[in-house]
Amino acid sequence: MKEENIVKRQLIKGMLLNFIAFSLIFSTLGCIIYSQVSSSLYSSSNQELLNNKNRTAIMQDFQINKNENKLEDLPENFNSNIPDISNNKQKIQKNIQAANPRLMYIFRNKNGEIIEEKGKYDQTYFEQIKFDNTNLDQIYDILVDNQYKYRAVNYKIQQNDEEIYVQILINVDAENDIIMNFSKTLIISIVICIILSLVASYILSKRTLKPIIDSWKKQTEFVQNASHELRTPLTIIQAKQELLLEEPQSKIIDKAKEITISLNETKRLSKLVKDLMVLARADSNKTNLKIEKIDIDNMIRNSAEPFQELANSQKKKFVIDLNYKKEINIDKFKIQQVLVILLDNAIKYTEKDDQIEINTLEKDGKFILEVSDTGIGISEEGINHIFERFYREDKARNRETGGSGLGLSIAYSIINVHGGTIKVEHNKPKGTKFEIKLK
Ligand code: ADP
Repeated sequence: MKEENIVKRQLIKGMLLNFIAFSLIFSTLGCIIYSQVSSSLYSSSNQELLNNKNRTAIMQDFQINKNENKLEDLPENFNSNIPDISNNKQKIQKNIQAANPRLMYIFRNKNGEIIEEKGKYDQTYFEQIKFDNTNLDQIYDILVDNQYKYRAVNYKIQQNDEEIYVQILINVDAENDIIMNFSKTLIISIVICIILSLVASYILSKRTLKPIIDSWKKQTEFVQNASHELRTPLTIIQAKQELLLEEPQSKIIDKAKEITISLNETKRLSKLVKDLMVLARADSNKTNLKIEKIDIDNMIRNSAEPFQELANSQKKKFVIDLNYKKEINIDKFKIQQVLVILLDNAIKYTEKDDQIEINTLEKDGKFILEVSDTGIGISEEGINHIFERFYREDKARNRETGGSGLGLSIAYSIINVHGGTIKVEHNKPKGTKFEIKLK
């Protein structure tokens, strides 16, 4: 599958998952808010209905025990606007509006029929109100005239030997309107939030995927380069050995050239494998440093000595100027390895009469090592990519000099685990300059 397709699929997958998660979160939040708001909005109406159940009960006791009592004898806390239900049917004030103007009382006989009191209300309106005499003491919703919303409760009361029903209704149109508007606003807000979260998740997924894509690209490139680098010497070795087998009678001296090439390629191969292992260890953070206090100027002088001799033999100038003069905590072997890589390159990429220079100094309390040369220099592109694995300025020429483009990557990772930095720049007027900074 193509790289972009995999990335696209991952992006869509990530977005979908985020979308589902955000939708669930926002919907749950919306449901909680909705149920909280609606229950608190209706709670006063519910309370009103339940309070009136108690009042009706007081009223019923009063009627049963004190048949002859008048309304004035009702308990003090009893709302005098509550209908007076006496045992005398004619005296029952039916369908009377209570103190709360939103409350309505409908008195019904045991068959559920309204006990009439003509003229007080529009009778046809009340006849539309459904009544179920099996649904008692439970608050329920009822729609009247297809537009007015009520909450209601039915109670059964005993009138001497007769059972009558009280249906108490409270108008909740206002609450209903508020809930409707609130739900609309809530739904719109949830949808906006989900869309915003989708956009945010797209941007975030892209951002999170970027380093993964980059390192994946690097990894693929690395594997391709590594297999290519490994294949080249292997092909040469195979070809040379096949050639040797073609003439099994011939002497080694006659085939010395082929044998030498095979040997060189074998060496190259084993160096390459060693370098790859060093980088693999660095990648998995398995580089164990053996930190010790080192007189670094002294160590550099000793390590540079063979290179100085080599440079002199090639008629190149070699300058060593060491001014740090302190001890430093480093892994001696690893820093030596870095110095060897830099000096090896300096020798490789300089010509007769060029100069190679090593400087050490202290700057802002830090150790600085500069390795510069007046050699062929590095291109502008090279300055940006030189520490990348397998990067070589001129691949064909570098193969001749034995380089695989891993030396500077190893140097970089060593300095990195030391907590230092390594930089490259053009040396004025020509050549290359590396600067290493350690704490
Ligand atoms: P190699 O084993 O090929 O030298 P390096 O990682 O050490 O690998 O170097 C990468 C490339 O950087 C080299 O192939 C070379 O083109 C360039 N390079 C490194 N050091 C120098 C230098 N001192 N002068 C010019 N080019 C250099």
